[in-house]
Amino acid sequence: MTAPLLKFEFAKTPPQSADCVIIGAGIVGVSAAYWLARAGMNVVLLEKGVVGAEQSSRNWGWCRQQNRDARELPLSTRSLSLWEEMTRDIGADMGFRRCGLLYLSNSEAEIEGWATWGRYARGEGVDTRMLTAQEAAIRGSATGQSWRGGVWSPSDGTADPSRAAPLIARGVVKHGGTVVQHCAARGIETEAGTVSAVVTEAGVIRTRQVVLSGGAWAASFLHQLGISFPQSSVRSSILSVAPGAEQVPAALHTKDVSVTRRLDGSYTLAISGRSHVDLTPGMLHGAGKFLPMFLKRWRALSVGGAQAWRAGFDSRGHWALDQITPMERMRVLDPRPSAKLIAQTLERARALLPGLRDRPVQAQWAGYIDSTPDGVPVIDADIGLPGLALAAGLSGHGFGIGPGVGHLMADFVLGRPPITSAEQYRLSRFKDSQWGKVSKF
Ligand SMILES: Cc1cc2nc3c(=O)[nH]c(=O)nc-3n(C[C@H](O)[C@H](O)[C@H](O)COP(=O)(O)OP(=O)(O)OC[C@H]3O[C@@H](n4cnc5c(N)ncnc54)[C@H](O)[C@@H]3O)c2cc1C
Repeated sequence: MTAPLLKFEFAKTPPQSADCVIIGAGIVGVSAAYWLARAGMNVVLLEKGVVGAEQSSRNWGWCRQQNRDARELPLSTRSLSLWEEMTRDIGADMGFRRCGLLYLSNSEAEIEGWATWGRYARGEGVDTRMLTAQEAAIRGSATGQSWRGGVWSPSDGTADPSRAAPLIARGVVKHGGTVVQHCAARGIETEAGTVSAVVTEAGVIRTRQVVLSGGAWAASFLHQLGISFPQSSVRSSILSVAPGAEQVPAALHTKDVSVTRRLDGSYTLAISGRSHVDLTPGMLHGAGKFLPMFLKRWRALSVGGAQAWRAGFDSRGHWALDQITPMERMRVLDPRPSAKLIAQTLERARALLPGLRDRPVQAQWAGYIDSTPDGVPVIDADIGLPGLALAAGLSGHGFGIGPGVGHLMADFVLGRPPITSAEQYRLSRFKDSQWGKVSKF
């Protein structure tokens, strides 16, 4: 069983030239291609497997400002309206709803953390409301428990991960762009020190501009070009249960388990932050940079196995451009979920929400979450090779801001003012000694 996903047919082969080539069709790549095509650019979006099939279909679907790192808050606020704008323009339901997000807790420290964040975020214009015990009991009545308190963020929402990226890719085509699936970009050619072409498994595309939005594959791809991108991935396990529990909130977070209603009425269930660390060659190289983050989160992390190493997405080897690459050997990164974690998640969800008790399991899957050392993405057009821009390391919260990240990439490519400030997303921050502030939430 793997994550549900809408699948469409697109172009069979890439053209020989383009104004801009986007590598990787997750939520970031489809969004960048969409905004570029909408601006009239001749854009080609390459996907080695199936549009949206990696992280972007495997997540919970939360599109939140709530508890965002300050560095990402303006982009997340802007992205919520971009979800609405894209939905109107594409004319298909991506499941985006401002359904509000509900957080419940019995921990005084956790509630105080939310209150501190709330004082800051309200100053930034975010509608975030602390809940008293009484209010939490009402909003959380489906749990049948009492709570010390909570937070309600009414303008946040969710979108459906099985629908969003594929439908945005259709939007790219609607605006004249080209989408090619089962077509890996093997590498980049340069002339006079700038990008001149993308080499794919189906031929060469001449272009002056490339956006790399390859998710967990980005660091190994950049390694071929001598560009160091500190990136590491952990494996998260998740499951869904069949529709029919209407009284359960649309999006609820508790320490024990979180639940999210999807467009078809099914629910995804997961334990926030719980992940497995599967060793990769890249992890060995970058261990020092990731130590602060792993130490901060060690309680939620378990030692995994060798499946990431075998999958080859985070290799540090070099490959030839005229031979099959790791991207063609692994069309869709589809790791095995942890059976123990899935069982524990289901047990906790059924204990918390009686409405879920008779809902049968529909699917279970895992996804590799790619992260930077400080838990904030890299979104940067100045990474060491003129003509190549990077958007990766979305660090477990990139689905909700995907439309905004894609917009920023389009802004860079088109040379227009960025929709929000982007200085904080530069790759160069990992070179100086000031970067080490790990994202708080
Ligand atoms: C279990 C789980 C829960 C999550 N929950 C949330 C949530 O609730 N809210 C939220 O905001 N975020 C969440 N996230 C994080 C979110 O899913 C990611 O941050 C986001 O989807 C990353 O998007 P992306 O486009 O960067 O990467 P991806 O979706 O991984 O896409 C990258 C694409 O690039 C392709 N590719 C790579 N290399 C090449 C190449 N050389 N040629 C062609 N194609 C290539 C890959 O095949 C892949 O399709 C969650 C993630 C997981 C796994």
